[in-house]
Amino acid sequence: MYMRKVEHIGVAVKSLAASIPVFEKILNTPCYKTESVESEKVNTAFFQKGESKIELLESSDENGVIAKFIEKKGEGMHHIAFDVEDIEAEMKRLQGEGFVLLNEKPKMGADNKLVCFLHPKETNGVLVELCQERK
Ligand code: ZN
Repeated sequence: MYMRKVEHIGVAVKSLAASIPVFEKILNTPCYKTESVESEKVNTAFFQKGESKIELLESSDENGVIAKFIEKKGEGMHHIAFDVEDIEAEMKRLQGEGFVLLNEKPKMGADNKLVCFLHPKETNGVLVELCQERK
């Protein structure tokens, strides 16, 4: 069992303060967690409906990846994250299939996850995140 389900969808926003109330209205549910990931220069906010989550991402630095993404493409869908049972095995499998990993080793993401991104060049422009719950 590798890819288990969509764990969350990442949305790039200019301001969490402005966007949290928007998604609280859309989902009719409160944001359950905000968390900063220093290494990625992002502040995140999470919402959950059933087993699906939305992750809002705001740049904490004007040169961060989210700031650059918004500069190029504007706010909106940023990545799809898939829940995997064994991230190292899945990274190896996808590398074997010819996908390019944006990080060689799993790294610490938000929400107690180990994460790895695939280069969007080989994924039809979709930034794919693999994430594994940290045990
Ligand atoms: Zn994510």
